[in-house]
Amino acid sequence: MAAPSDKMATIVSLAKRRGFMFQSSEVYGGLNSCYDYGPLGAELKNNVKRLWMDAMIREHENIEPLDSSILMHPRIWEASGHVENFTDPLVDCKICKARFRADQLDNAVCPQKPSKNPKSCGGELTEPRSFNLMFKTFMGPLEDQSAVVYLRPETAQGIYVNFLNVMTTSRQKIPFGIAQIGKAFRNEITPGNFIFRTREFEQMEMQYFVKPGTDAEAFEKWKAIRMQWHLDNGLKKERLRFSEHGPNELAHYAKAAFDIQYEFPFGWQEIEGIHNRSDFDLKQHEKFSGKKLSVFDEESKASYVPWIIETSVGCDRTLLTLLVDAYDEEVTQGDGEDAGPRVVLRFKPRVAPTKVAIFPLMKKDGLPERARKIFKDISCRWRAQLDESGSIGRRYRRADEIGVPVAITVDHEAGSVTVRDRDTMKQERISEAALSDYLAKKLGGI
Ligand code: ATP
Repeated sequence: MAAPSDKMATIVSLAKRRGFMFQSSEVYGGLNSCYDYGPLGAELKNNVKRLWMDAMIREHENIEPLDSSILMHPRIWEASGHVENFTDPLVDCKICKARFRADQLDNAVCPQKPSKNPKSCGGELTEPRSFNLMFKTFMGPLEDQSAVVYLRPETAQGIYVNFLNVMTTSRQKIPFGIAQIGKAFRNEITPGNFIFRTREFEQMEMQYFVKPGTDAEAFEKWKAIRMQWHLDNGLKKERLRFSEHGPNELAHYAKAAFDIQYEFPFGWQEIEGIHNRSDFDLKQHEKFSGKKLSVFDEESKASYVPWIIETSVGCDRTLLTLLVDAYDEEVTQGDGEDAGPRVVLRFKPRVAPTKVAIFPLMKKDGLPERARKIFKDISCRWRAQLDESGSIGRRYRRADEIGVPVAITVDHEAGSVTVRDRDTMKQERISEAALSDYLAKKLGGI
């Protein structure tokens, strides 16, 4: 069994080697903590986003999608409390000049070689200073205070300020939700652990608007729904847990908060937050904008400002979790090309970036043409890949390593093919006419 740090290094190396992620601006030496998603990573990310959005808007008739802009009126961030409160305590080491989060010193390592924990290296640390995590820029040609805008640090505020627009145009009534996927930016002091903490990332957030007094029930309901989503994606139950924020950890807006945590090789970490944000956000926007954001209650004939239950999960962090959870090394007894451990990403079919691999046994006798025809027939429904080079054993290994659930081999037997299951490695012969039904069953119709 690999040590935790080795396991992460192995996964990072596989992700780069097979084109899931690349360091951003690699040819220029890279840009710290920014990553580009390669062909498989982009496909995996699309799957994650589609699964999340479908779970929101297809499974709930009272949830509507939204795609709001990244740049918003700067007053929004004053109202939300981000200008004043979205800060981390920063300390500098007076010797090596490295910067650390004062509240995360226990797990920090300094950049000196050999690296040490900043508490034990002997270097004196400065007093903590508040560091605002929002990226600032200017709108228009003037670079003065009146032109300041922020790259949004969360997608939620775009939902709050559109809450009445969405409710009235979609004719929804409380309770209802708004779901949004989009980029967020945080100038993190200590990004790291590959794509776990980056400065540019994507969030998948759903804000559920409820009548005051029904918030606790909605909170419990969404906790359960969100945990089930991660399980449905195949994450192992024993590596997931809830962790409740204590009174001192609660954000300024929150009445209650639970994290869904996953056990990474580097420890238990948050992958999603479920928050009861009370009526804080809408009331703040009422105050700062001067516009009413209340709804009329037919029953009591009175207006009220809805309370909000938020579910907020990082798309990139979900992706990392899926990679870590799916990674497996199987000891094999083979020799030659079968020697060494078999590396398998055990993605559930709905998550897998490539669903089907198609191999002509040989590059002659019309087998490539038959393989290409099968590829054409199925690739409009399932992301498929043709692989013609190398031995069949090697091609199976290549497909296993990127988590392809089904491999089809086209051999000399006319009218039928061999299909091989990634996990059991069992092979069976299927008539070509039955292939589509077989795949629909095996891949769950995705
Ligand atoms: P953390 O404590 O890890 O900094 P947070 O509590 O600030 O996270 P939230 O503001 O609740 O995070 O954001 C919701 C989700 O967005 C997180 O659960 C995580 O999945 C994702 N997320 C937050 N910050 C980052 C980041 N810097 N990089 C990647 N994903 C992030």
